[in-house]
Amino acid sequence: MERVAIIYHSGVAEYDFGAGHPFRGDRFPRFMSLLDAHGILSRPEVQVVEPEAAVNPDLRLAHSDGYIRLVERLAARYAPLSGDTPLTPAIPRAARLIVGAALKAGELVAGGGFKVAEGVGGGLHHAGRDYGGGFCVFNDVAVCARALLERRGLERVLIFDSDAHAGNGTMDIFYEEPRVLYLSVHQDPRTIYPGTGFIDQIGGGAGEGYTVNIPLPPGADDACMELVLERVLKPLARDFRPQAIIRNGGSDPHFRDGLASLGLTFNGLRAIGEAVADAASAAGCGVIDLCCSGYNPETVAEGWLAILSGVTGIEADLVELCPPRRSDPRLLKRTETVIDALAEKLSGYWSLG
Ligand SMILES: [Zn+2]
Repeated sequence: MERVAIIYHSGVAEYDFGAGHPFRGDRFPRFMSLLDAHGILSRPEVQVVEPEAAVNPDLRLAHSDGYIRLVERLAARYAPLSGDTPLTPAIPRAARLIVGAALKAGELVAGGGFKVAEGVGGGLHHAGRDYGGGFCVFNDVAVCARALLERRGLERVLIFDSDAHAGNGTMDIFYEEPRVLYLSVHQDPRTIYPGTGFIDQIGGGAGEGYTVNIPLPPGADDACMELVLERVLKPLARDFRPQAIIRNGGSDPHFRDGLASLGLTFNGLRAIGEAVADAASAAGCGVIDLCCSGYNPETVAEGWLAILSGVTGIEADLVELCPPRRSDPRLLKRTETVIDALAEKLSGYWSLG
């Protein structure tokens, strides 16, 4: 029986940007209630683990001291970090718990005998070394990856970012780092925040070839994602031979999401999880899974569960409340074209399918 950890602290609910903001903190306890309703929390292989808040030496794995101080200073004054990311004193406190959850997930997978660890609240991928925004204060994905390298001695960590938005913060932090292969599939950044994440951004210096961006056309559906998983994730993971896989991204690729315009169903989200589990199994490593995004209250928690179900193999019956859009073959064709161009761009580094 393969052990699964759910890393959860009730304090993450304070990661809440207030009434009228698309990111509210009630998503976290709702996800835990949904896991409970599906009987997942009482399964013998599942263990709920409470994380500790990350401290400054943890945050410094991915952020500058000046930025950490800036966040605390702004939060104390209730001043915004960026136009879309208001701060209160509670936000950095909760953000530290989110980073702590990712660190705990990394520890349990790298040395604690767990095959999968789910960090509830993770994936704040828009925060860079010296900046934040896009609802992201501290980059838990980057801190977790860096801790696996520096504290656990790992040499190869694969980050698969399946959020609808490109992970500009994570990309920037590891742009010149060959020990971290950063693979991001997202909605075409010409049509959505953060406006970066193009196929010609492939890393620099020693990290050239270790950043891979796959921009999908708006509307891209399950079939498009399946193609990405088969032609990009699978061969990259096979050739890179990761010692840990960090997958991040929540429910915003779902077709009913309020902020993004992709076309995935719960089945498509589950397929992401399954492909990650297959890649991890082929590499003989574990998976750190981080979820926080999603901007439709009716699909946020369900989408996370779909992904978790795929990663762990635990069945969860999820019902779409609206019929998905009809599949459009032109979207698949456009996705094929993107992957062909990417394969060409990366031909000196990797053989894509
Ligand atoms: Zn997103």
